[in-house]
Amino acid sequence: MDKKLKNLIFVLNCGSSSIKFAILNPNNEKKYLSGVVECLFLSETYITWQFLGIKYKKKIGSNINHQEAVNFIIDQVLPQEKDIFKNLIGIGHRVVHGGTKIKKTTLIDNNIIQYIEDAVSFAPLHNPANLIGIKIMIEKYPSLAKKNVAVFDTSFYQDMPETSFLYAIPYNFYKEHGIRRYGAHGTSHNYVAHKTSIILNKKFSSLNIITCHLGNGASVSAICNGICVDTSMGLTPLEGLVMGTRSGDLDPSIIFFMNKQLNLNIDEIEMILNKKSGLLGLSGISSDFRYFEKNYNHKKHAKRSVDIFCHRLSKYISAYMSLMENRLDALIFTGGIGENVPLIRELTLSRLSLLGFNIDHELNLYTIRGKSGLISKSTSRSVFVIATDEELAIAQETSNIISRK
Ligand code: AMP
Repeated sequence: MDKKLKNLIFVLNCGSSSIKFAILNPNNEKKYLSGVVECLFLSETYITWQFLGIKYKKKIGSNINHQEAVNFIIDQVLPQEKDIFKNLIGIGHRVVHGGTKIKKTTLIDNNIIQYIEDAVSFAPLHNPANLIGIKIMIEKYPSLAKKNVAVFDTSFYQDMPETSFLYAIPYNFYKEHGIRRYGAHGTSHNYVAHKTSIILNKKFSSLNIITCHLGNGASVSAICNGICVDTSMGLTPLEGLVMGTRSGDLDPSIIFFMNKQLNLNIDEIEMILNKKSGLLGLSGISSDFRYFEKNYNHKKHAKRSVDIFCHRLSKYISAYMSLMENRLDALIFTGGIGENVPLIRELTLSRLSLLGFNIDHELNLYTIRGKSGLISKSTSRSVFVIATDEELAIAQETSNIISRK
């Protein structure tokens, strides 16, 4: 075992349908353990992890929920790393929504748990999952109970101007009930934005970029002079792009129609828009992008779904160009789809040639599986793929908070 092991952070990122986890050193960025539980609530939930370079894969069971999956990680995966566990100084949790009260990364105590609970209605698929992870870690590791840190997706959006975050509904809904755009995926957008400033050798405070985080959830952010000035997710992570199972933007009247004409109640509509829509709803088959990549040229429903996904994305990128104060340093693709699916980048950029985007087909095809790099021609506006690392970003923020205490 590495004698220099110290100051390690355990990161738990409980998503809506997957759980990512890692143990890493936030200073030298070395990852000792990383893994993911996929397909929660489906017929086959499985876990893959990598420890000291060796890969493992196991089926956990059927219809596994967050609690069962986190307990599996604790009981089956972590005991293998006893030496590493002794060197943990903190536990970092991704929390999607900080609600109206929490603006930045913070140590977790009972008040913070209550605030995260208060914000459940703003992120109904995510905050409950985040809370399960937090509560289990506090209970199972009492010696680290006061070293649990929450890193919020919404923090990155605190400086958005009100022209971006306000909805055009009576103002008192914002003042009295906190109804506004909060954004999500901020940890990832922030991470790739900082990576971009290093690649371009540009001060973060003068960086003008558009970042597209395309995963099971998907969002676009406009960053001007290092500040996020708009983002596609709204009060909840339901607004914006077409996602795996989420509808993204729609005419609010569709909800009234579903309710009044189709007699669906509000819970059913919420479930349809969050869990049965997006790529899954359009195709009727899958929310997994690997399916669409394979079938784009063979199956009508796959082509239709992907084309709608790219149409929506290119509309957002075009709109965000207008927020760039006459200069765009780069357009960034990241996330499971953004990093691994050349087809999406090709189809999206082909719609944006009028705005000066021109893809380099070879570079685009070559840039997959965690690789970062330029994918545009020299005559084009710059387009980069940048591999995100939310776990590293969370570990670094956790370490900063703990060392400040
Ligand atoms: P994320 O939420 O960032 O983990 O991304 C999940 C999405 O990325 C799913 O739709 C996956 O199908 C897709 N994805 C991940 N890896 C690949 C890959 N190698 N090829 C195609 N799609 C992928």
